[in-house]
Amino acid sequence: MKRIAVLTSGGDSPGMNAAVRAVVRTALYHGMETIGVMRGFEGLMDGDCMTLDRAAVGGIIHRGGTILRTARSERFKTEAGQRAALVQMENRKVDALVVIGGDGSFRGALELEKKGLPVIGIPGTIDNDIAGTDVTIGYDTAVNTALSAVQKLRDTASSHDRLFIVEVMGRDAGFLALEVAVSSGAEYVVVPEIQLDIAKMCDHLHYSRKRGKTHSLIILAEGVMSAHELKNRLQDTGGYDARVTVLGYIQRGGSPSSFDTVLASRMGAFAVESLLEGKSGSMVCSICGQMTLCPLEDAWKSPKHLNPELLALVEKLSV
Ligand code: ATP
Repeated sequence: MKRIAVLTSGGDSPGMNAAVRAVVRTALYHGMETIGVMRGFEGLMDGDCMTLDRAAVGGIIHRGGTILRTARSERFKTEAGQRAALVQMENRKVDALVVIGGDGSFRGALELEKKGLPVIGIPGTIDNDIAGTDVTIGYDTAVNTALSAVQKLRDTASSHDRLFIVEVMGRDAGFLALEVAVSSGAEYVVVPEIQLDIAKMCDHLHYSRKRGKTHSLIILAEGVMSAHELKNRLQDTGGYDARVTVLGYIQRGGSPSSFDTVLASRMGAFAVESLLEGKSGSMVCSICGQMTLCPLEDAWKSPKHLNPELLALVEKLSV
C-alpha cells in the first residue's frame, strides 16, 4: 500500500482535525502518502483533492471543525456518483480510503468497499449515537461545552429562584443530554429513549419545591421536542413558568478536549495500521478504552443504549 486518501463527511465535530493529522502522520511513518479529499463525498466525486504532507497537518491538532471541510451529498447516493468517486481514486492511484464521519458516511463508505476500494471508518460526531463504539470523536468536547453553559445558567437560576429548560443537541439520541444532566446536577432529563410523562415531571418539581429547592434545571434532548414546546406543556400541566435556553451550534465548535484529541489521534493511527494489515469494511471502535474494529454495518444495524445507571442517577441525586 503506497497511497491512501482521507475525508470528513456529515456534521463536523471537534477532534476531526486531530484524526486527519494522525492519519497523515501514521501513513508517513509507514512510508505512505496521504491525499486529503475536500468536502466529503462531494469533493471525492469532483476530484477536489490535494496531497497532505507533514507540514499540511501541522498546527491543526487543537483546531475545531475540519480543515478538509465537510458536506452532505445526495449525488453520492447514486450508482453514478459512487462510480465517479472510484474513478477519481483510480486516477490518483489511491489504494484505500479513511472516512471520518457518522453512520450515514459509513453507509457511503460501505458502497465504495463493495465496489472494490478498501475503506476504514472513524466515528466522528458529537451525538455519540454510533453503536459498536463506546465513544465518538467530539462527544466529550460537546458535553463539556454544554456543561460550561449550563453551569452559568445555574448561577442565574439559583439567584432568581427560577426553573430553566436547557435544550441540547444529540439528534434522535439522548447521550449528550444524559451526560450533561448528570454532570450539571440537573433535576430532570428528557431524552428520546424514554417516554416523557409530563404529569410525573410536574410532581417531581412540586416535591422538590416542597422540600425547599428554590430553583431547578431540566435538560432536554433536541430529539424529543423543542424547549418552547416543553415550556408550554409545563405551564399547561403544572402552572410552571420556565425560562428557556437553546444551546444550538456552539456545541459543535471549539477546540477538542484532551480526551477527544487523544481519542482522535489513537483512532487515526489505528485506522491506517488496520488498512496496512489488510482490514477493510470496518469502523474503528473504542471499547473500554481499547482500540478495536467492528463491521461498518454495526454503526446503524445494532441499537446503542443509554447507560441505565446514569438515568437512575439523575433521579436519585435530585431527591
Ligand atoms: P452526522 O451524524 O453528523 O449527521 P452522518 O455521516 O450520519 O453524520 P449523513 O448526512 O447521514 O451524515 O451522511 C453523510 C453523507 O454520506 C451523505 O450526505 C451521503 O453523501 C452519504 N450517504 C449517506 N447514506 C448513504 C447511503 N445509503 N448510500 C450512499 N451514501 C450515503
